[in-house]
Amino acid sequence: MKNRLNALEEILKRRWGYDSFKPLQKEAVEIALSGRDCMVVLPTGGGKSLCYQLPAAMGHGLVLVVSPLIALMDDQVANAREIGLEADAIHSNLDARRRRDAYRRLSEGKTELLYISPERLLMGDLLVYISERIILAAIDEAHCVSHWGHDFRPEYRRLKEVLDRFPKAARMALTATATPEVQNDICAQLALREPSRLVGHPDRPNLIYRALPRRDQLAQILDIARRHIGSGGIVYAQTRKDVERLAKGLKKAGISCAPYHAGLSANDRQSAQDDFVKEKLDIIVATIAFGMGIDRSNVRFVAHANTPKSMEHYQQESGRAGRDGMPAECLLLFAASDLALHRRLSKTENISPQRELAIERQLRAIGRYAVAPVCRHRLLTNHFGAPYPPDGSNKKNCGACDVCLGETKSLPDDEAVLTAKKILSAAWRMEGRYGTGYVAHLLLGRSYERIKFNGHNKLKVFGILKDSGEPAVRSWIDQLIVQDFLEIKEERNYPLLYITAAGKQLCKDKGSVILGMPILPLKRKKKKLAALNKKFDCGLDIDKELFERLRSFRRLLAEKSGIPPYIIFHDSALLEMAALKPKTLNDLRSIKGIGEHKLKRYGAAFLKIINKTND
Ligand code: ADP
Ligand code: MG
Repeated sequence: MKNRLNALEEILKRRWGYDSFKPLQKEAVEIALSGRDCMVVLPTGGGKSLCYQLPAAMGHGLVLVVSPLIALMDDQVANAREIGLEADAIHSNLDARRRRDAYRRLSEGKTELLYISPERLLMGDLLVYISERIILAAIDEAHCVSHWGHDFRPEYRRLKEVLDRFPKAARMALTATATPEVQNDICAQLALREPSRLVGHPDRPNLIYRALPRRDQLAQILDIARRHIGSGGIVYAQTRKDVERLAKGLKKAGISCAPYHAGLSANDRQSAQDDFVKEKLDIIVATIAFGMGIDRSNVRFVAHANTPKSMEHYQQESGRAGRDGMPAECLLLFAASDLALHRRLSKTENISPQRELAIERQLRAIGRYAVAPVCRHRLLTNHFGAPYPPDGSNKKNCGACDVCLGETKSLPDDEAVLTAKKILSAAWRMEGRYGTGYVAHLLLGRSYERIKFNGHNKLKVFGILKDSGEPAVRSWIDQLIVQDFLEIKEERNYPLLYITAAGKQLCKDKGSVILGMPILPLKRKKKKLAALNKKFDCGLDIDKELFERLRSFRRLLAEKSGIPPYIIFHDSALLEMAALKPKTLNDLRSIKGIGEHKLKRYGAAFLKIINKTND
């Protein structure tokens, strides 16, 4: 046993250039190699691919990987080949030559790792090639098998039929996000046999989370984009119109970006995606149609210009930031009206009452996440049933979210109650005849015609929060909606603000409320961010100019071989090179992520660039 573990570590170092396994990787590999089934739940960037790639590198036989996304498959194949694995993919988008080559290698028994789409596998004709040699069937994005999950794929439900055709092969189901319900479903639907469940901690410590009230969407998005000039970022917006508007705004500000949504031609979408992956484009502004097929590891921020549909969606979409483990930022701009839009859109479908209830629960959860002045890392991990902090300590401050960084504060309890009561009594007084805007203006004491005409400027609540400013008042109203003290009901397409029974109770001092408030414009926080960024430099003194040169050289190489740059070397490897300035191949070998294959292929060329500076 001990020998085998050491052997695994040796392969990890030689092939991948990594010194140690990430949590649960070794366990997954061990289980697979001993022919048993397992389910692996690790967050994005947790290193799931390695769990099935390493068994393929042992030379014992074929590892089959079922993956729902063709775009992702090609990148994964390129990635595996860079490590020196005999990898191929078979899917409907292959050109004739690649298809022929893949079949040839398969029939010659050379293939070590085969990616395949579920549709293609279900056709059954490939089984003659694989059933004899297959040692492991890995099902990636396994949550697609579950009705309860967020990306249900009917073909995934039929995989069991095929898996049963090679009963001796171990099965490994992998996913990033799965509630216990979805986990059970995965094990049942894929007929895993007494599976070990390897469930990692969902926290992503390298991500800095911020959830802020939306004030000026474009200005707030510009702000985060400007802090990451020259790096990759994804901006998610709710509608095509939002996408187009934001993309236009960013472009006008001279920022490299492209829109992506279902209304664009397949060609336009493909080229935006390609350019983004190949680092020819910094920012994609997209609806959630974008991203499933993106493995770019050096995405430095993901901003949600609107509130996502659920915590699961948020975890998955924001999780596309910082796969390489280096700091990245996730920003969510919240307005309660986003939830109302999600609700309206989901209700037009023909949905069952249970589904409607499930949607309602999801919207509440993401709403609470966005407005509660509570550590965002904690809220996210708790949602997925895990404790925070991961190490079980009682450390209170994550140091990596707007709340713990002191950018969002909660009001003292008594002040929160008082403020809530002022807002609630205004809403109560209006009896659901007006929208949030009107009530906000009333509280702020704006003498608009309409307010005067209604005589509302004579009310006690008029101007009662005039010193708090509009952004705070609007945000508090949203926070009270999320906490069920207020609600929005649509009448003749007009959203009206009502006080709820709980709201009336609170006015009578029954119940409790928390209210948060952003206290500083983000700009003043630059220093803190710089401090955080320093953390990932690991105290290394990086030659920025050399880093940029290494980066352009990598882009050139990638362009030439038609693969994404990060597949050649991660940014972290380039940063280390730019700091340590290795002189020999042996020096290079000690850099994380440089295995023998890459060393041979690229080592000399990169050394040349580095040593030009050394001279
Ligand atoms: P997931 O599929 O879980 O999102 P990936 O398999 O894409 O994650 O891996 C995420 C990143 O982690 C990749 O850049 C990969 O090279 C890196 N990685 C994987 N295993 C290790 C390890 N043991 N040590 C360091 N980096 C690793
Ligand atoms: Mg993956």
